Amino acid sequence: MPLTLASIRQAPKAVLHDHLDGGLRPATVLELAAQCGYDQLPAHDAVALGHWFRDAADSGSLERYLETFAHTVAVMQTPEGLRRVASECAQDLAADGVVYAEVRFAPEQHLARGLTLDEVVEHTVAGFREGEQLAAEAGTPIRMVCLLTAMRHAARSLEIAELAVRWRERGVGGFDIAGAEAGFPPSRHLDAFEYMRANCAHFTIHAGEAFGLPSIHEAVAFCGCERLGHGVRITDDIFDADTGSAPRLGLVANYVRDQRIPLELCPSSNVQTGAVPSLEKHPFDLLARLRFRVTVNTDNRLMSDTTMSREMLKLVETFGYGWSDLERFTINAMKSAFIPFPDRLRIIDELIKPGYAVLLG
Ligand SMILES: [Zn+2]
Repeated sequence: MPLTLASIRQAPKAVLHDHLDGGLRPATVLELAAQCGYDQLPAHDAVALGHWFRDAADSGSLERYLETFAHTVAVMQTPEGLRRVASECAQDLAADGVVYAEVRFAPEQHLARGLTLDEVVEHTVAGFREGEQLAAEAGTPIRMVCLLTAMRHAARSLEIAELAVRWRERGVGGFDIAGAEAGFPPSRHLDAFEYMRANCAHFTIHAGEAFGLPSIHEAVAFCGCERLGHGVRITDDIFDADTGSAPRLGLVANYVRDQRIPLELCPSSNVQTGAVPSLEKHPFDLLARLRFRVTVNTDNRLMSDTTMSREMLKLVETFGYGWSDLERFTINAMKSAFIPFPDRLRIIDELIKPGYAVLLG
């Protein structure tokens, strides 16, 4: 089966790094803004608004990129807004052939209209459950897991970690920190990570995106993260990669590879934020060849105007990957998922391997 956008959509996929507030439908942003009286949107029809998001996110700086979230977060402050966005997120991912998704957001950013942290999580998880049900009825079942993010410039990370543990039997799979990376090292939130570890609970850390190796070192060595959000700057610790001889790995890169710490790579987003100069220069393929545990992710589907299938197609077009490569990246993601081991195995054995077997012919 040739690799096209349509055929890749048929392939079972798993995403570990997708932001709820980065994946709204432009039409939904407009409708929710009208409903809640938010009048700051920069465009007033769905097509123009979609373009605005992508162009603003294309500026090349993580800080500018993060500005676009002011608008999406503004329309996600009510029970209806949260529920609808979460439900549509599940439906959109499922329609793209995603069978397992971990979708994250920062509850502390959704309190502007009086909701409590627990209410924010409650309505979001309810939206995921509704989306799962609608997706199953449409013949595209998906399992949705919610990750709770704390903002790294704020001081609520321990509270959000506690929230994640409180909701872990009810749809929340883990914890994360995100936001502007420079000046806000992961170790600033050490108490939150220690709380997660003490409770045998899962977490990932955005590190090695806007900032380099010290951020990754802290995330893995001090904080003990299970996965790295992006982690592309691990290449700062890989030497002689373009000399033709075997690349040499430094201590941190060796540790990340030895420990099989998954890298949540987001090709389009990494280019947009300037973490890498272009898709052709993205270290995805270098890291895959060096046998790091690489995974393919969307990050922010609205801002990058993308889907899981499009991210995979871009990698196919850039690096010449085939079905067996896409299957390997998908199994990497499932092995790294924050759900119980038997559940991961079941998705790999019952959905992913049979799905790719058909495509491989
Ligand atoms: Zn992210």
